[in-house]
Amino acid sequence: MTDRKNWPLYSAEPSSSCSRRRFLATTGSLAAAALWAPRAEGALRRDFAFLDYPFTLGVASGDPTPDGVVLWTRLAPQPLFDGGMPRLPLEVSWQVAEDEGFKKVVRSGTTTATPEWAHSVHVEVDGLAPGRWYFYQFESCGEVSPTGRTRTLPAADAVAPALRFAFASCQHFEQGYFTAYEHMLKEDLDLVVHLGDYIYESGGRDGKSRKHVGGELSSLRDYRNRYAQYRGDPDLQAMHAAAPWIVTWDDHEVANNYAGTYSERDDVDPADFLKQRARAYKAYYEHMPLRRSSLPHGPDMPLYRRIAYGQLADFYVLDTRQYRTDQPCGDNFKHPCPESYDPEATILGESQRKWLTGGLSASTARWNVLAQQVLMARADFEAGPEELIYMDQWPGYEFERRQILKFLGEGRVANPVVLTGDNHANWANDLLTNFDNLEPKTVAVELVGTSISSGGDGSNVPKESETVLAENPYVKFYNAERGYVRCMVTPREWRADYQVVEYVTRKGAPLLTRASFVIEDGKLGLVKA
Ligand code: FE
Ligand code: CA
Repeated sequence: MTDRKNWPLYSAEPSSSCSRRRFLATTGSLAAAALWAPRAEGALRRDFAFLDYPFTLGVASGDPTPDGVVLWTRLAPQPLFDGGMPRLPLEVSWQVAEDEGFKKVVRSGTTTATPEWAHSVHVEVDGLAPGRWYFYQFESCGEVSPTGRTRTLPAADAVAPALRFAFASCQHFEQGYFTAYEHMLKEDLDLVVHLGDYIYESGGRDGKSRKHVGGELSSLRDYRNRYAQYRGDPDLQAMHAAAPWIVTWDDHEVANNYAGTYSERDDVDPADFLKQRARAYKAYYEHMPLRRSSLPHGPDMPLYRRIAYGQLADFYVLDTRQYRTDQPCGDNFKHPCPESYDPEATILGESQRKWLTGGLSASTARWNVLAQQVLMARADFEAGPEELIYMDQWPGYEFERRQILKFLGEGRVANPVVLTGDNHANWANDLLTNFDNLEPKTVAVELVGTSISSGGDGSNVPKESETVLAENPYVKFYNAERGYVRCMVTPREWRADYQVVEYVTRKGAPLLTRASFVIEDGKLGLVKA
């Protein structure tokens, strides 16, 4: 990886001109002519020279397939000041090699970074071999990006012997350091799944570990600068460069607890809120390694998708924000209200629900994974007979929650595993059909991952632990330290390790495994390992 010790200061080296190319090693297979041949786009500049290093946000890859992957970067010599780029399109070349020294380049090409998309670059590489590691790099006007490493998925019909991945969520920049990613980097993972709250929208506040630049996010510029600030974090940046990511969002990528067209307190006109949503979605797309199929159109951005890890696991990556109806019982903690049983209330929206159940019905995968945002278990947070529910999560939309669990209970879906973020706590839950006079049974398991940093230093036994465990006997583990969940998946078993750090308001916390659970193929339910 390119050593950039002077982050976040900018390079004071003399800038290099576009006529110099500095890829690590170039071979005949790199189409050099294509770089400099005149093109129809008259405005494209090649005599441009960067005053400062443009790859300050690093590189990333994502949404792998058996023969390809998305490569991402963004030209941003002044990352916190709208990128610091001229309003000009610039050519960016890229290359993919089998080796870190770029001796065996297998794919290469050029693309254009445009000011309309904040000079972000999304390259959809194809023609790669399944199930193997690759290295990649970008170059623009003589400046060369750090090297990234990525991996293709196994062939569609292959039963891969193993998958090692981690899932993460909720990385409030002000509330702590991303020490968890420093440890994740050493886990040798095939991929990373991010379940949302990648950024937070609040304005900068004093007295925290770090400080957001700027006020509460509203303009496109605000959102872009916030992503740039987060992506400047060296641990986050290094983890993006180390493995492909599969990302989805939760609420804070736009605004707290929003639902479809409704802002948190319904105090913004839905038409205005949709304009803000469009700006937020655009900045999200610009900063994530997503495919063109996820390109936003105004306030609409198709993000839910299926990613098949050969025949071992299907990942249904869900979007529980964009298509929601407003929280039927209102927000936050409440005693249940009848409206949560309204069949019209939805967290997925009808199209996504049909796509999900249709896909699951036809699945031939050993493990069927719902990679999504909010708690699916009906967690009761109040001691005694009264039920206290967090209404922004699935139980606020109880009709649809039961619909999905009943569907899973029909037994057509092999080994359903729900991955959840949002909570800033670790949970290990059996998901039960304990309603509607149904025979209570476990129909799926839910692994809830804690935050990377949101909530600050956490606790192994937070004050709500006793109530959560006593009121909800299907909850096998509850903990509110920071970290991520590492999963080691084989055809025979799924092992989940809750990896935690004991503090994040200071750097340097060591990593420990706080709990481990195993799910055996064909046996629904979590077993403590
Ligand atoms: Fe969060
Ligand atoms: Ca209760």
